[in-house]
Amino acid sequence: MVLSAGDSVVDMTAQTMIVPAYAAPSAKAPLERTTIERRAVGASDVLIDVKYAGICHSDIHQARDGWGEGIFPMVPGHEIAGVVAAVGADVTKFKVGDRVGVGCMVDSCRECENCRAGLEQYCAKGNIQTYNALDKNGEPTYGGYSKHIVVDEAFTLRIPDGLALDVAAPLLCAGITTYSPLAHWNAGPGKKVAVVGLGGLGHMAVKIAHAMGAEVTVLSQSLRKKDDGLRLGADHYYATSDDATFEQLAGSLDLIVSTVSAPLPLDKYLGLLKTDGAFVNVGAPEEPVSLNLFSLILGRRSLAGSGIGGIQETQEMLDFCAEHGLGAEIEVIRAEQINEAYERVLASDVRYRFVIDADTI
Ligand code: NAP
Ligand code: ZN
Ligand code: ZN
Repeated sequence: MVLSAGDSVVDMTAQTMIVPAYAAPSAKAPLERTTIERRAVGASDVLIDVKYAGICHSDIHQARDGWGEGIFPMVPGHEIAGVVAAVGADVTKFKVGDRVGVGCMVDSCRECENCRAGLEQYCAKGNIQTYNALDKNGEPTYGGYSKHIVVDEAFTLRIPDGLALDVAAPLLCAGITTYSPLAHWNAGPGKKVAVVGLGGLGHMAVKIAHAMGAEVTVLSQSLRKKDDGLRLGADHYYATSDDATFEQLAGSLDLIVSTVSAPLPLDKYLGLLKTDGAFVNVGAPEEPVSLNLFSLILGRRSLAGSGIGGIQETQEMLDFCAEHGLGAEIEVIRAEQINEAYERVLASDVRYRFVIDADTI
């Protein structure tokens, strides 16, 4: 059976399908339109008609090989929202027409202690990333900058009715990457939480922390986005370019979540924590950072990291966002604007997530 699915050639009897996509042909090369091969829909797979794909700063790190070991050509995109176009014979969770999402992982070993605990992102054998990874069949994975994607139903999320697909797409990475540490470190009433960097992740962190009931402070490089920050739910907004900020807030915060994509002077930020406070880093800069360990010793402070979230927790986050009416603030772009959007993200000129309209791919 040949399914007419946009420009994709989906021959349900063949082993593969040909799908239009945007790819970086090599490290640092601009992304361009191409076609990729995807596996045919297996028994436990869903075929998703991608409607929107968010642009995460991680896409840029990887498309430019900033983290090393990139697999090219690379089709980025791990903030995927779309509609189920076909299901395999054994699929029970989804049917054609369902609104679904895919985040940063498309599989894991499903057997290790972490996978069994719903922490597939920390799979002992390494989860299989949505792109820039090798799938269980040994083929490279390709992400959401494409018309269609085939994903096992176990790694497919349900997008609640209350959330439009375009504002839901960024939740699949920016939403869960901030929800998970905020939940784990108990952001809530009575807690003073700071978010460093008001970009894609940062603006979701502000919305989610506010919805959890915390007192939220934004620490941004400048006051340029202050009005937005307060509108999104922040109670306070400071510029980190002003040294007075670090004097004023010294020892005052319970939790800091840093979403900054570049190395930060950690000692300065750790000094903002109360006794037993925690600095949780989700930003993934390309260079290492240095640290004076006395910044932790004095005040029994913790320095931690956090990576995305498990599948069950991602569903919980989507349901939480729907319940609280939280979508991303987005600028929808056409696929041919991807390279321009990358430059704007690098210049911190994004309010607050670019989302590709997949119909333009
Ligand atoms: P983004 O939209 O570019 O936001 C990053 C923000 O950091 C910028 O908007 C800017 O905020 C601030 N910033 C940028 N350069 C800075 C600098 N040199 N000094 C201080 N602040 C700076 O990026 P994103 O998509 O939110 O991603 C943020 C980081 O998280 C990336 O490194 C990404 O790879 C990583 N990430 C990690 C995970 C994970 O699982 N841990 C998941 C997704 C993404 P202001 O303009 O407000 O200062
Ligand atoms: Zn991401
Ligand atoms: Zn595992």
